[in-house]
Amino acid sequence: MTNDQIWICVVCGLVYDPVLGLPDEGIPPGTAFEDIPDDWCCPDCGVSKEDFEPHGDSAWIPPRMAV
Ligand SMILES: [Zn+2]
Repeated sequence: MTNDQIWICVVCGLVYDPVLGLPDEGIPPGTAFEDIPDDWCCPDCGVSKEDFEPHGDSAWIPPRMAV
């Protein structure tokens, strides 16, 4: 079971990478999206977690993996 699913805000395109977390928002690295409090909102556009969708394209390479 993996918890490193990347989620994307469908409104503004913000990428949530659980490996990186969102330290500026109080979410430490290693926090799965499912473990973020339900009242959390997108820091960029303010929508709720329900407006994020899992990124399912395995061919997509997260920026952190680009060397
Ligand atoms: Zn957003």
